[in-house]
Amino acid sequence: MIPASPEEADLHRVDLSPLLAEGGGAVAPIPPFEVAAELDDEHFVGGAALQAGRTNRGVRIWGAVRGSQAGLCARCLAPVTAAIVTSLDEEAVDERHAEGEALRIGSGNSVDVGRLALDALDLARHLILRCDPPCPERCGACGGEHPLEACPQRDGDPRLAGLAALLPKQGDAGGEIG
Ligand SMILES: [Zn+2]
Ligand SMILES: [Zn+2]
Repeated sequence: MIPASPEEADLHRVDLSPLLAEGGGAVAPIPPFEVAAELDDEHFVGGAALQAGRTNRGVRIWGAVRGSQAGLCARCLAPVTAAIVTSLDEEAVDERHAEGEALRIGSGNSVDVGRLALDALDLARHLILRCDPPCPERCGACGGEHPLEACPQRDGDPRLAGLAALLPKQGDAGGEIG
């Protein structure tokens, strides 16, 4: 088993020294862990079941990530939580093998696998959250709970409809003026 080695600002860092000491092909399970973070005003939580395997250049980390994304419905703004099921497969390489943006093994032979899991959730995120079951479609003209085609305001001149909304209702004209 690969021990956790926490550091501040890390989501879930593990020490890969025992695995790096082994030869190529060695595989060790990473004990299941959970991550949680806010990304773009949405709340992500997930659990990861990962394995780590020794490669020529470093360590391959792979496995399943399952969680959820909580935010607001794009249509009615009600709170919504949607499931995310995904996986990751990354290689963290030793600094001397690293080029460009390659994921590197960090200080103390460690890798923040929590960050990898969160990135996997983010990649699989729902771009638009919607209620489930779906909330009523909102009218693009008046915001009512009917499709645009059925809008009672649709046949009139939309500029007049806008003006009509600004006028005081019959019966309370003049009350606030003067
Ligand atoms: Zn909704
Ligand atoms: Zn309408």
